[in-house]
Amino acid sequence: MLKLLFLSTPVGPLGSGMGGGVELTLLNLAQEMGRRGHRVKVVAPENSVVSEVSCQEISGTWQDTIQNNHRDAPIVLPKNSVLGNMWDYAGRVEKDYDLIINFAFDWLPFYLTPFFTTPIAHLISMGSTTDAFDEVMNRVAKQYPNTMGVHTHAQGQTFPFNDICRVLGNGLNLSLYNYCDSPDNCLAWVGRIAPEKALEDAIEASKIVNIPLKIFGKVTDEKYWQTIRQNYPDGSYQYEGFFNTIELQEKLGRCKALLMTPRWIEAFGNVAVEALACGVPVIAYSRGGPAEIVQHEKTGFLVEPDSISGLVDGINRVDTIDRKQCRQQAEKEYSLQALGERFEGWFYELVKQE
Ligand code: UDP
Repeated sequence: MLKLLFLSTPVGPLGSGMGGGVELTLLNLAQEMGRRGHRVKVVAPENSVVSEVSCQEISGTWQDTIQNNHRDAPIVLPKNSVLGNMWDYAGRVEKDYDLIINFAFDWLPFYLTPFFTTPIAHLISMGSTTDAFDEVMNRVAKQYPNTMGVHTHAQGQTFPFNDICRVLGNGLNLSLYNYCDSPDNCLAWVGRIAPEKALEDAIEASKIVNIPLKIFGKVTDEKYWQTIRQNYPDGSYQYEGFFNTIELQEKLGRCKALLMTPRWIEAFGNVAVEALACGVPVIAYSRGGPAEIVQHEKTGFLVEPDSISGLVDGINRVDTIDRKQCRQQAEKEYSLQALGERFEGWFYELVKQE
């Protein structure tokens, strides 16, 4: 039995959607490690929604999201930083744990790593963003090999320490996702509403094929969302809102396909696997995580990145995909049990190395 301390993302509480996929990843892993008999404690910003696992809530100012920072952006920590406060707490209790797992894509946890006596596993949730982050991560990677976990090969390749990244994939609690065989005449787009996700491409494609687009997700960049609404005032798309997993899967399952239009190298793309779990084919740009998930012409289509006509072709051929194959792929490759096995193996190696 391992005693594990999970340090969450500092960009918002768990359940808020501010953290994107890392929120679901953390909750799934915490639940699965608990199921395997390990003791898990989660440390997360105040007002986090966490069930079945013990959570220490920490107050303080959230970190800004950094997905669109320039390469030379400096390190920023606000006054009364929740990130700083969470790691203060970790420093006080570290002796009670075998392993700390860092889910924050930020500078401070890497910088602090040599000052802790309990080993720290870093689960990196994005591709490379700034030179300052790369520098500190690279330092930790060299000093503590095997502590850098990523979700996909494409994500690892964005970092200077790619050769020592541990590629861990991701997984879902598939029992929460119902297979839906008969979709309505609509398309889905799911994710944080922010520039790196290029929602506008999905809107353009759905207009061309004249199939309504349903949008699910948290608006994390209000200015970007307002620009979209100004540029596309005609109502060919519908913003449905941000939902919990149970509601999301129910609505997503009724769509003909999921469109994934990442402009950046998506680290993984939880929403791809969530769609597959509901039997929904995925039409995605062939870059980053989705390109390692979607089986072209079997569980969706991988199309030329940034090509709207590629998306349109995929939508026009979507009826050739057998929705059962989508669910089967999710079951075969993305179960929580399989994920738990991989992570448990990694955690034991790190604890033994000490
Ligand atoms: N999501 C959600 N409710 C919604 C829409 C999205 O909980 O209404 C979650 C979804 O389950 C997924 C996350 O938002 O876990 C998006 O993660 P993804 O890995 O696709 O991208 P990221 O935001 O990490 O770049």
